[in-house]
Amino acid sequence: MSGGQGLAGDPGVELTRPELEGDAELAFEGALRPRSLGEFVGQQKVRGQLQLLLTAATMQSRTPDHILLAGPPGLGKTTLAMIIAYEGNRPLRMSSGPAIQHAGDLAAVLSSLVPGEVLFIDEIHRMARSAEEMLYLAMEDFRIDIMVGKGAGATSVPLELAPFTLVGATTRSGLLPNPLRDRFGFTAHLEFYADHELEQVLGRAAKLLDLVIDTEAIAEIAGRCRGTPRIANRLLRRVRDYALVHGGDADVAAVHAALELYDVDAIGLDRLDREVMRIILTRFGGGPVGLNTLAVSVGEESETIEAVVEPFLVRIGFLMRTPRGRVATTEAWRHFGLAAPLAGGPTVPLMLDDL
Ligand code: ADP
Repeated sequence: MSGGQGLAGDPGVELTRPELEGDAELAFEGALRPRSLGEFVGQQKVRGQLQLLLTAATMQSRTPDHILLAGPPGLGKTTLAMIIAYEGNRPLRMSSGPAIQHAGDLAAVLSSLVPGEVLFIDEIHRMARSAEEMLYLAMEDFRIDIMVGKGAGATSVPLELAPFTLVGATTRSGLLPNPLRDRFGFTAHLEFYADHELEQVLGRAAKLLDLVIDTEAIAEIAGRCRGTPRIANRLLRRVRDYALVHGGDADVAAVHAALELYDVDAIGLDRLDREVMRIILTRFGGGPVGLNTLAVSVGEESETIEAVVEPFLVRIGFLMRTPRGRVATTEAWRHFGLAAPLAGGPTVPLMLDDL
């Protein structure tokens, strides 16, 4: 692991933010999405659990149970929702929490579902409260109550729904109210991918893109994509661009040059990751520091820090979440080439320019 990667980076490029998606990227992703559980790389346990659940539903000619997919962005939640629909040969309706701001928005979607349809609600934790309550009844009894009229004369009219399977996705399962969480028959927790799995994702994507790339270059990209297939595909695209523009092969040299250009370091840390670590190490002497203080210090939403940045830093052993706050590990001090303050001793002031 190379020390002193440079904590401050180019603020312009966010190649490794798993949640950012432009239209071009959505189209690109669409072309690379696996269409069956067999094609879906990794997440072996979740795949097995889903396979069983879907097969049992097919054997009993019923709609599969409602499914909650939890995990950081870019790990395959939307892809799995699509696969659940494809595998059961069912139509798919896609929506998202932020698009459901009133119970009426949800009623409109639910009342137009056809029997057996899969309803995917991305970022389900961001749905309006009033809609959440409507969803409880819909999930349990395939029924909703619609309010007709206003004031004292208002009455609620029950409306039968077609049986459907709700697939909810969330990056923050802790924010879901218990009554909602309890109504899912199965919750899948998606994990970050191991390097060898990311190599498979990349090999598959390169083939689909007709890109000739050697295994060494693939391994190099796999080590830098934060355990996240979306980032793997995105980095692959940049390497392909680099090779195209410079007229060379998509080899390790092209990977190094392209990723250096986009400020992705040797272990996949980007500007925001390094900024978070820089603040914890230098301003708070390694912590503990509270999430909100940290978020304000780096000028980001605390939700982004908690759902996007921290899971990866925790996974690579740079950060611990403790009841007293976030704490940098010895490994983090070492990676950034800094000396950890002695336990109980005075904190050695560090010059920001050193980093
Ligand atoms: P999420 O909904 O969790 O943010 P997506 O399902 O949109 O993530 O996945 C992002 C991209 O990563 C997809 O376009 C797909 O090409 C790729 N991807 C995700 N998971 C896998 C996987 N297990 N195998 C192959 N490709 C994957």
